[in-house]
Amino acid sequence: MPFKRKKKQNLIALALKEKMMTVIGEEIPIYNFRFDLTNDNKRIFGLCAMTKDYFLVAKTEKKNAEVFLEVYKTEELYDVQYTKLYGTITLEYRNADGNLCELCRATSRYAEELMDGADFLYNLNKKLEVNVPEKRKNKVCPKCGRAYRRGSNTCLHCGGAKKILLHMIKLAKPYLPRLLFAMVLFFVVSGLNILVPQINKILIDERIKAPNAAQIGFVSLLVVVIALAVTQLVTRLLSILRNVLLIGTSNKMVVKIRSMLFGKIQKMSIGRISEHTAGDLITRVTSDTNVLNEFLTYDIAEIAQQAILLVGVITVMAIKQPLMTLLAVLPCPLVILMFNIINKFMHKLYRRQWFVDMRASSILHDIFQGIRVVKVFGMEKTETDKYDAAVKKDCEIKQQNETLWNLIIPGANFLMGIGEYIVLYFVCFKILGQEMTLGDLTLMTSYISLIYGPLRYFSRLPRKIVRTATSIAKIFEIIDEEEDVADVENAKNIDIQGTVEFKNVCFGYDRHERVLNDISFEAHKGEMIGIVGHSGAGKSTLINLIMRLYDVDSGSILIDGVDIRDISQESLRRQTGVVLQETFLFTGTIYDNIAYAKPDAPRDEVIRAAKLSGAHKFIIKLADGYNTVVGERGYTLSGGERQRIAIARAILGNPKILILDEATSALDTKTEKGIQDALALLIQNRTTFAIAHRLSTLRNATRLIVLDKGEIAEIGTHDELIRKQGIYFGLVMAQRQMAKMDK
Ligand code: ADP
Repeated sequence: MPFKRKKKQNLIALALKEKMMTVIGEEIPIYNFRFDLTNDNKRIFGLCAMTKDYFLVAKTEKKNAEVFLEVYKTEELYDVQYTKLYGTITLEYRNADGNLCELCRATSRYAEELMDGADFLYNLNKKLEVNVPEKRKNKVCPKCGRAYRRGSNTCLHCGGAKKILLHMIKLAKPYLPRLLFAMVLFFVVSGLNILVPQINKILIDERIKAPNAAQIGFVSLLVVVIALAVTQLVTRLLSILRNVLLIGTSNKMVVKIRSMLFGKIQKMSIGRISEHTAGDLITRVTSDTNVLNEFLTYDIAEIAQQAILLVGVITVMAIKQPLMTLLAVLPCPLVILMFNIINKFMHKLYRRQWFVDMRASSILHDIFQGIRVVKVFGMEKTETDKYDAAVKKDCEIKQQNETLWNLIIPGANFLMGIGEYIVLYFVCFKILGQEMTLGDLTLMTSYISLIYGPLRYFSRLPRKIVRTATSIAKIFEIIDEEEDVADVENAKNIDIQGTVEFKNVCFGYDRHERVLNDISFEAHKGEMIGIVGHSGAGKSTLINLIMRLYDVDSGSILIDGVDIRDISQESLRRQTGVVLQETFLFTGTIYDNIAYAKPDAPRDEVIRAAKLSGAHKFIIKLADGYNTVVGERGYTLSGGERQRIAIARAILGNPKILILDEATSALDTKTEKGIQDALALLIQNRTTFAIAHRLSTLRNATRLIVLDKGEIAEIGTHDELIRKQGIYFGLVMAQRQMAKMDK
């Protein structure tokens, strides 16, 4: 179970650190990092730390096993370097004899830290300045020491309670008068709850059991009963009013939070979004906000109500019967402790249940996603067995947990009532001694149940709070996340003419792995730039940078002489059009899908775009024409038809910069020819960047940029590059050869 594993890992890290302290004492290392492989690729727990004088490598196989420590003097580590192997990375140094020796080895999980370690060690050895990058410094929670997720400022474990509270107060500010009124109602309702037992006492002592009971009239009895009924009625009505106020407020707050969260996800860069799964983001927007809604609507009210009631009853009781109150509350600490222990125990069991449940759901998710593969390989029975086994396990654990819960809770509730029995005994004793009345007995037993009710509630509360706090932390982790691709202050809204210039652009998805290196070129309005190269050369990456889905690491991209980081993203994207290999159609009509690029476009303009792209012809042949519903549950269009819709969308958007990323690769040659004609119309008067696997489609490009391992290897027209007989020539020849072989 991950929880136990984490705990175990922390203990191991502690053991490794302690071993290191035998050498460096209390000195704080400049940098430390984890590694997880031995030099024969077996799993291990390892920690490296470097101080000014020492480099320490500590490792152990498992908890409580022996910790091995290697101590190196920094000055002895000549020429530190890292080597990437298949899926692993090693840190090595050259010893005095000039041989390479391995210091540690890790899987890709710790690759970045290890590479940083190599850099720092190199600098330390060469007496250069060792700067821990700013990006790394903030990555750890100051409270628990756990790493933050990239870009995040919130620790999911500690939750940043203060920060979350501030957020909530800020959100609640507009509703302050309502909330204050609800608070007053809490006090009034609690007061009325405390009043009811008093009226009961009057009913018993001064009416039913009064010494002059025989003379008590019908009216006088009725007055008390009516008083009782009115109190109850007012309590109910005020509770309803309070709940309505709170439900309205909390719903508004949650709507605001959902919109903040969704807005933030929309603003996140593609890089950040791809660090999450779609399921994770959907859960945060729906389930986590639901948990918060429930907490704000019901639990906060209940907590406030129960707390006020508890304090109120204890105060009233203490004034009337101090000794009795003491007796009643005496077992409270014990009861709270007992419930705490039970809760913790059950929490572990439910956590296990949650994991098993999650596993069953993910099997289901996997099978549905890959249903075609399952069917093609005839694996239905195997997959059904797998799912059945997971569900059976889930069921068994649920049954065990529920049985246990039902065994423990009645016993615990009985023990909890012990205070009530003690008081009952004393009150009865006093009644016999004529010191108390029967009315006092009902009063006391009612008050005691008013004390123990809230106590029972509070003892179960931590479990709920933990669940809610996790959800709230997950929501605000996203809301507070730093934006990596963000608009600068006063970002410009420019009217793009079409000149795109790359100036010494370098970029890598990981800091240590350059995908594009020193790219420089200029493209003008009306030009079509074909981007060519082997798979993995960086073609799509270059396109991603033009759309500013990522920011360059160094160098700059200028549009009409303005750095794209100074242009507002809205203005850039509005004037950039894309036709991809696979066109995504939203669930809706064909008309809506074309108009997506310009929702307020007049109908004539949408149809004109469809005509220019060649889509009109097939659309009018459909029974519902432009109103045909497409998308996940709609009519299925062919690849060529989808591409025509994408082209119509692009024509309507009238982009100044157009990107064609393998726009015709998935089509057969005949369909491609038709689409090519539509594209030729589309690219007029725009700056176009096109990637195509079939090089013949780029024949008409004004210029071709040939990328090789992230660098520009060749640049020129088709004829020039053919004459040059370089990489492009090789690619064209290879494709011709393939075509001949196909024939
Ligand atoms: P091409 O389009 O020429 O096939 P890409 O630009 O897609 O090449 O990829 C260039 C390199 O960048 C490849 O090594 C690829 O693995 C890597 N890469 C592409 N996208 C990502 C990503 N989102 N995260 C990390 N690496 C990536």
